Amino acid sequence: MRNELVQKYFAEIRQLKKDKGAVILSHYYMPPELQILEKDGGVANFIGDSLGLSVEASRVEAANIIFCGVSFMAETAKILNPQKHVLIPDKEAGCSLASSITSTDVQQLKLRYPGVPVIAYVNTFAETKAECDICCTSRNAVAIANSFETDTIIFVPDVFMGQNLQAKIESETGKKIILWHGYCEVHEQFSNISLSTMKQMYPDAEMLLHWEVPRETVDESMQSRKGVLGSTNDILKYVGNSTSKRFILASECDLGASLRGMYPDREFITPCIKCPYMKKINLANTMAALQSIGSDAEALYEILLPPEILAKAYLPIKRMLDFV
Ligand code: SF4
Repeated sequence: MRNELVQKYFAEIRQLKKDKGAVILSHYYMPPELQILEKDGGVANFIGDSLGLSVEASRVEAANIIFCGVSFMAETAKILNPQKHVLIPDKEAGCSLASSITSTDVQQLKLRYPGVPVIAYVNTFAETKAECDICCTSRNAVAIANSFETDTIIFVPDVFMGQNLQAKIESETGKKIILWHGYCEVHEQFSNISLSTMKQMYPDAEMLLHWEVPRETVDESMQSRKGVLGSTNDILKYVGNSTSKRFILASECDLGASLRGMYPDREFITPCIKCPYMKKINLANTMAALQSIGSDAEALYEILLPPEILAKAYLPIKRMLDFV
């Protein structure tokens, strides 16, 4: 998009936010133009990972939240703010991971493993969360898994993140993890082949791997190479503490935009795999969602959940926020 057009959208969106009493919460996987804070000339009030956005959603004072992320995230914002209007610029912004499990699947797991606590990755829909004991993000999954006294836990739905968690938890505590077989279609694509080639091309680069990357890729990538396996927040912090000038990023491509903005003197190399769901959100539909507030068109964007799901899903999210 041409810069004049981007600036025109920025100015109109900022004015609409004022007129409508709205804030914009934006995820690190959004297109770069939605990852610029209003104070820096953009439109976002807050940019964050899943946990950061959940925390921010619980603090928002404005009556209207425009959630620039995918729908399970906007649902979390609604669950934490049931009295507010939460709008997502495109309701079709789904998630392969969240779609891999339903509330019925969790009910069946609980019947099969009675008394075993169920931890749901926050990348699940509200109905699924409502059946689980606690939610977690990649940032607090280890602390939450370790907080249960049982020798077994169920972790849903991300099998790759679950395997990475398993490797850490089992070696530290001997606890067993029962896994579900969902996966993120973005992080699943980080294969040994693409990263090994990059490692050969950039022998001085450190590795930045998200928890959702397949286990075998993690094992191979971290061999004889410095780096981090962790959450988005862990990756951002790791770069801040490292003296390296070059990094290979194995996470959603547009996280690279935030990293380049925060650390302009460093180089970030990535196979650039984009999440098709996150990319459904753009400046045009963000503006349309804002314009709809107070009109019949708001129904096209507003997140609405049944009262019983709002109440039931609140508890596992609230328990997760106690680990922040
Ligand atoms: S990056 Fe993966 S987990 Fe995140 S929204 Fe896209 S498909 Fe879902």
